[in-house]
Amino acid sequence: MIQLEQISKSFGKQEVLHHIDLQVKKGEVVVILGPSGSGKTTLLRCINYLEKPDAGQITIGNLRVDTKHPTKKEIHALRQQTAMVFQQYNLFKHKTALENVMEGLTIVRKIPKDKAREISVQVLEKVGLGTKLDHYPSQLSGGQQQRVGIARALALNPEVILFDEPTSALDPELVGEVLSVIRKIAKEGITMIVVTHEMDFARDVANHVVFMDGGVVVEEGTPEEIFQRPKEERTRQFLSRIT
Ligand code: ATP
Repeated sequence: MIQLEQISKSFGKQEVLHHIDLQVKKGEVVVILGPSGSGKTTLLRCINYLEKPDAGQITIGNLRVDTKHPTKKEIHALRQQTAMVFQQYNLFKHKTALENVMEGLTIVRKIPKDKAREISVQVLEKVGLGTKLDHYPSQLSGGQQQRVGIARALALNPEVILFDEPTSALDPELVGEVLSVIRKIAKEGITMIVVTHEMDFARDVANHVVFMDGGVVVEEGTPEEIFQRPKEERTRQFLSRIT
């Protein structure tokens, strides 16, 4: 289980996250929705300490970290238990698809090369790129590059995969292939937190939907509760603008 308690974060005088609580059960897909600037990406980046929260606790499995005074070991452990899929893929341009996936396994996880190659081939096959192992990012479409990004996260076998608007940099015709890969791995029971503006995806795949605005969780519930019977005016307004 993943639990965030009272996570707060300011950039200078601007408070971007205000006492956020969030619980994600094992195997659950939690989708975070909200207008631009509401703090979704910052929240995701706080979970693996890419952003340093100002206060609050993060629990992942048996690891509980007080974000105000974490040890280096705790930060390292948080990063080991999470993997992130970025909006802009963040692949190494001079490495092939296979090398991009292997990198985290050999460098971060210290897995021997042969084993790392075996795992990487498996996950690239899973995301439909078994024939593109030796292609460089420039030889792949945006959708394929993002699938390499997903394979790289999967290979690490983390407690949770954090998706930061994984389809928002893609041409519309490429969004579907990436969402269907995410759907497929969601069905395998991998815990996920997904920031997205893809409402159909959120409706279909999420177990739990969180609506954020102005750095707070305004409302959360099942997709049905949030999409069919939102309680809060701010949620209703957001959904009427976006759907
Ligand atoms: P979007 O949907 O547009 O990606 P978001 O909900 O993910 O938005 P964040 O990216 O978390 O929102 O940003 C929340 C606020 O924090 C914004 O006002 C943004 O300008 C500000 N912000 C984010 N990162 C930084 C930073 N490194 N330094 C200063 N301000 C930042």
